Amino acid sequence: MGLIVRSSAIHAAGCYTTTPIAKGTRVVEYTGPVIDKEEADRRYEDKPITYLFGIGDGSKVIDGHGIAMFINHSCDANCETEEIDGRVWIMAIRDIAAGEELCYDYCLYDGGDEDAPCNCGAKKCRGSMYSAEELRRRKQLALRRAKEQAAVKKKKVKLAANKKKRVQSGSSSRNAAQPAKTSGRKPSKEKTSQSSQRRKPAGTGKTAKKARRK
Ligand SMILES: [Zn+2]
Repeated sequence: MGLIVRSSAIHAAGCYTTTPIAKGTRVVEYTGPVIDKEEADRRYEDKPITYLFGIGDGSKVIDGHGIAMFINHSCDANCETEEIDGRVWIMAIRDIAAGEELCYDYCLYDGGDEDAPCNCGAKKCRGSMYSAEELRRRKQLALRRAKEQAAVKKKKVKLAANKKKRVQSGSSSRNAAQPAKTSGRKPSKEKTSQSSQRRKPAGTGKTAKKARRK
């Protein structure tokens, strides 16, 4: 099978076939050293692009090193990935003509705060390389964060109003800046909601590709 790497309209470089490929063909293996997820997080903490492929329960990843790492994502792909005994294969899910770019659905997860916009150009493009499941999870997380932020803001406004009231009423000028009765309770409550705001999904913002399960 003739696979080549050249520039792609989807993203940077892509992987193309120079010969026709029949549906069901095991096209190429996603090769590279297998490392722990924690090691991958450390290794790529500040790198915007990674070629990590999560395998098994996700505690291990393949650190892509080989031609398969150049295969781009598409929401309307001609290939899919299959994990067989800890190895990941790119399989053709339809007949592919010579000259076509190979692509599969990355179904990204564990991306921290980063977006993963999709440029695949498919009619049914979902706009992101994250899996549909991950997009739902992120949407819920964003809603929860917005709610928490709104609650904190409301509390601060209330606190400021109390402060103003105390100053204006002119009672004991030295303690005027401290909100009286409530001062013992509020800071601890705020701390709770702030710490949950910072909670992130496991990992340090590295995107990993997930094998599509059948
Ligand atoms: Zn797309």
